[in-house]
Amino acid sequence: MLRPCTSQLACRAFSTARIATRPSDLVGNTPLLALSSSLVPDHLKGKVIVKMESMGPCSSVKDRLGLSMINAAEADGTLKPGMTLVEPTSGNTGIALAFIARERGYKLILTMPETMSVERRMMLLALGADVVLTPKETAVSGAVAKAEEIMVELGEQGHMLQQFKNPANPKIHRETTGPEIWADSGENVDVFVSGVGTGGTLTGTSQFFKGYEGTPGVKPDMHVVAVEPQEQMLLTDAMGGEKIGEQGPHKIQGMGAGIIPDVIDLSLVDEIVPIHSDKAMEVASRMWLEEGLPVGVSAGAIVAATLDVMSRPEMEGKTAVAIVPSFGERYFTHPMFEEISQKAHSLEKQPLPEPFDNRE
Ligand code: PMP
Repeated sequence: MLRPCTSQLACRAFSTARIATRPSDLVGNTPLLALSSSLVPDHLKGKVIVKMESMGPCSSVKDRLGLSMINAAEADGTLKPGMTLVEPTSGNTGIALAFIARERGYKLILTMPETMSVERRMMLLALGADVVLTPKETAVSGAVAKAEEIMVELGEQGHMLQQFKNPANPKIHRETTGPEIWADSGENVDVFVSGVGTGGTLTGTSQFFKGYEGTPGVKPDMHVVAVEPQEQMLLTDAMGGEKIGEQGPHKIQGMGAGIIPDVIDLSLVDEIVPIHSDKAMEVASRMWLEEGLPVGVSAGAIVAATLDVMSRPEMEGKTAVAIVPSFGERYFTHPMFEEISQKAHSLEKQPLPEPFDNRE
């Protein structure tokens, strides 16, 4: 696919020819898509565009982060050939780190709770990572403690990237995600909507729009919307808002990590929209069926929030760009697909047509 060069990543990758020389050159430069199906109600005042981070080489917004953190650690000399990377992650960050670690020749050990699906473990093992499971009772903190224990054993041979704290996280979005959105939209965006896991996507992209450390932004009045699970309204609480309904576990993988991450800069956020897991699953499923777009659960939450915001009268004629963080096939063991899974298992075997032609 020939696309104009809009971000630093793509420009570097394709400076002389349109042939990448290594998988990490394929990170970034994801396309924008204007939603146009029945998902978009007639009364909507503004336009909704999605940025398809699901189209990265390992199918998520975390491809950028994996590359950025490893590049930064190589550049400052903390990561040297022969060293082992250790990270407590079960999610898309683990997959992104696994593919870049393979490309660069680093050993990678990922620690995660035993509740993680077998598909997720297989993806990581197939990419050559070592997977260490921790008891489900200790949840994420157990995986963090195990990673720290492994780091002590490895001593100077180990390196932990720490996505929730690492400045290379927002940096990559400031330098690539933001500029790509701006250029590909024809410099015509009024509202930016992102989910928050580490807060890297939201913070870095918003820094590009609103300005960062003395560098002026390209659109200081951008309306920045952060989306969080309604069942875990930590950001709303931190900004002095009211929590809605019962608080507890949620089902929006990748968002709502249960902490306010160091990486997030809430001063850049104009509004926080809470979305319930059920709503996220409903809208994600409608994106599959009505747009024909296989996306993950968090995309459902982010698009649901965007549709809410863009239906207000003051959004007449405005344009929103919302992040689609990941590809939907990664979530087949998620409750969102329970019904589909049952249907798939109960399909009756049909006799083959006679004579059976196996060339097709
Ligand atoms: N959705 C999904 C599926 C993710 O994997 C992530 C990253 N954890 C996010 C949303 C949120 O991105 P960020 O960490 O940059 O806030």
